[in-house]
Amino acid sequence: MIARPLCVGGADPLGYSALMSVAALVLAAGRGERLAADLPKAFVPLAGKPLLVHSILAMAQVPEVRWIVPVLGENDRAHYAALAGEISGISGLLEPITGGVERQDSMRAGLAALPDEVKWVAVHDAARPLVLPSDVSKAIAMAQEKGAACLAAPVRDTVKRVVDGKVVETPARAELYAAQTPQIFRKSWLVEAVDKAAAANLLGTDDAQLIEELGKDVWIVEGSPDNIKITLPDDLLFGEAILRRRKEGGERG
Ligand code: C5P
Repeated sequence: MIARPLCVGGADPLGYSALMSVAALVLAAGRGERLAADLPKAFVPLAGKPLLVHSILAMAQVPEVRWIVPVLGENDRAHYAALAGEISGISGLLEPITGGVERQDSMRAGLAALPDEVKWVAVHDAARPLVLPSDVSKAIAMAQEKGAACLAAPVRDTVKRVVDGKVVETPARAELYAAQTPQIFRKSWLVEAVDKAAAANLLGTDDAQLIEELGKDVWIVEGSPDNIKITLPDDLLFGEAILRRRKEGGERG
């Protein structure tokens, strides 16, 4: 069992219980068609363990994360039940929630199901199974200082903005980051952002965008480039190589 320290009652001079009121939503309701697998993406194995199991175990190793809520596709309960041997006994792992058609619908469903005590939400894609727990802790600390934070990695390529096949802009590469997950927010901000997005029919490509639309600042925490999103079959090969390297180097993986 992976146990995390809880602050139960009594004096709390360091605000420890506020730090601990973080819930991780692990979004796993996508089909992952580009992976061309027989299983929904979250259940596809990486080095023998489904992506969702890797992601849940990573969140379970983050001391500040007190609750973990998986968000599943509507037909994925049997797949999830089959993982019991690998994830049962994780403290704070709550019953899974059913997601929706778009990722944002899934996030919204998970958010609505969180316990009232949750004050901070870390939204994580099950498709990023290699996130380092230490990076998540850093992003949580930044969010708890500023209200909203996002793991991100500096882009390596020069990025072009293109309209109708023609380059219209080359943004300065030094200013560009590729957003990763988890992205961590004050829960009340995320609830407000999601409601505003729904009213405006805005579908963000990540959660931070919804917070930006609220007029709030989102702060970047540089995450490991290992925190790749598994999208295409070759990403699994790359992910396995990262896990092998971690094992050989004695890193946590
Ligand atoms: O499809 P993509 O890789 O961009 O999805 C990112 C994450 O969002 C994945 O972990 C996927 O399971 C999740 N997702 C979801 N509900 C959807 C679509 C995607 O939970 N409707």
